[in-house]
Amino acid sequence: MENKLGNPKNTIEILNKYHFVFQKKFGQNFLIDTHVLDKIIDSANITKDDFILEIGPGIGTMTQYLAEAAKKVVAVEIDKMLIPILEDTLSSYNNVSVINQDILTLDINALVTKENEGKPIKVVANLPYYITTPIIMGLFENQVPMESITIMVQKEVAERMQANPGSKNYGALSLAVQYYCEPYIVANVPPNCFMPRPSVGSSVIRLTRHKISTVEVKDERLMFRLIRASFNQRRKTLVNGLNNATDIPYNKEEIVMCLEKMNLSPNIRGEALTLHQFAELSNLLKNFKE
Ligand code: SAM
Repeated sequence: MENKLGNPKNTIEILNKYHFVFQKKFGQNFLIDTHVLDKIIDSANITKDDFILEIGPGIGTMTQYLAEAAKKVVAVEIDKMLIPILEDTLSSYNNVSVINQDILTLDINALVTKENEGKPIKVVANLPYYITTPIIMGLFENQVPMESITIMVQKEVAERMQANPGSKNYGALSLAVQYYCEPYIVANVPPNCFMPRPSVGSSVIRLTRHKISTVEVKDERLMFRLIRASFNQRRKTLVNGLNNATDIPYNKEEIVMCLEKMNLSPNIRGEALTLHQFAELSNLLKNFKE
């Protein structure tokens, strides 16, 4: 492939050809390491039956790899200056479409219905780090049919996604990710694998969607409210944290009663609870209002 990207020389050539100016506000750090690209493609387990959504293709480096491995790739890029470049670098692939839009405003469910008959897709991306959480949470909360999400994120964010109780990285993001998926950190990636170099370390993480939920939750919104309130006031006990939150309609006595039923101390902190315990607490509280 004449135009094959993924090494610094070809990337610089394309950038110069189009006088491209990097936009910091869009989190533009392009991959220039073929080993990392191979690793991402391998760990995403892509087959010729797969429909891939790529978020932020940049100049199309990973898109070329995806197009060769998958049946169809749709790449969503916000920066209109990259569109003519993508038309050039992807010109020899007939299984790629590029959408020039902000991923946060795109109706991904409609896209999956139209392009993949509503069947589960795989998301693969070197994400713009400034919107990692809204992108991931948007995919989960909108119930986009997905098998897996394989993404490059900031190293600390990958560690938070995979963290368990007892770790300083454990928090609302760990619980949200683990409620929907099984996280697995595939590789750590140093700044010199990107152009320009980011100021932080990066990791590739694969989130495999649970086929069957690992916890039973009567009211997901309530459980996530409990989780958010507990970690908003991390240093407080769970009971005080929940009691101070305006969107939790339960008083101290009700919360303590539930903790007792769960054989947990009334002085426990939220950060000590597992996903199963948050689920159980929300189910017990829900019983009061039913
Ligand atoms: N995939 C390319 C690579 O690996 O070389 C580029 C990755 S770069 C870290 C992130 C890309 O996401 C950039 O191309 C940026 O313009 C794009 N981007 C930033 N915000 C976006 C948004 N809200 N919607 C879609 N794309 C976005």
